[in-house]
Amino acid sequence: MIRLIDLTKRYGSFTAVNRMSLEIPAGELFGFLGPNGAGKTTTLRMIAGILRPTSGIIEVRGIDIHRRPLAAKARLGYIPDRPFVYDKLTGAEFLRFAAALYGQQGPVIERRIDELLELFELAPWKNELTESYSHGMRQKLIISGALVHRPDVIVVDEPMVGLDPKSARLLKDLFRGFTARGGTVLMSTHTLETVEGMCDRIAIVYGGQIAACGTMAELREQTESEGLGIEDLFLKLTGGLPTRSLDAVLGD
Ligand code: ATP
Repeated sequence: MIRLIDLTKRYGSFTAVNRMSLEIPAGELFGFLGPNGAGKTTTLRMIAGILRPTSGIIEVRGIDIHRRPLAAKARLGYIPDRPFVYDKLTGAEFLRFAAALYGQQGPVIERRIDELLELFELAPWKNELTESYSHGMRQKLIISGALVHRPDVIVVDEPMVGLDPKSARLLKDLFRGFTARGGTVLMSTHTLETVEGMCDRIAIVYGGQIAACGTMAELREQTESEGLGIEDLFLKLTGGLPTRSLDAVLGD
């Protein structure tokens, strides 16, 4: 479970996240949608404990991440949008390193590493340096690193970018299986079909606030958008298209 209460992040005088409150129960796959610069990544980084909030409360499975950061982080797996791995580590070394950050090592972790590498079809590259990995392979290794310690909550930023269709489908099935077993997933994405097809509930983030939140049906009802697809709903809630500027650019 993830709970945000009045979460705020300011960069100088600019407010990137503005008194955001949200509760995502166990067993839910929750989608974060919003235009570029809406505050999605800032929110996810605060939940992951990478960025300190200006004010507000974050709880992961009922644990306040400010008061008990280690206990909260032990329950959480964070998958960032940019897959950073240490080039001079092999895939297996990277995963051992990730597990060690949570104080986990030994035969159980070695088995877990093998299972994850097998799942993402990285087993043949287990002992190769990650500098030789493609973008998608790095992304899959990062995902494995976030799962290696068996978290209860996954916070994931733009997971589908750079993944081939098979890997993207695998990830969807993985997240669905994870929530079916009581896990919680908070996922930001720009892929509207992904959100519509797989999320239990969605928040549309705009200007650092939640403009609307609920199931697709609830969002349509809240915004009086019966019959609208997710793309039109999204545009309606986030200011629409800059048609005048488009005309100006295309005009002769
Ligand atoms: P995108 O969809 O483009 O990834 P986002 O919703 O994830 O966007 P954020 O990265 O959270 O957006 O950024 C929210 C706002 O905060 C933006 O206006 C951005 O310019 C600003 N911002 C983010 N990081 C910083 C920083 N380190 N210093 C100043 N402003 C920042």
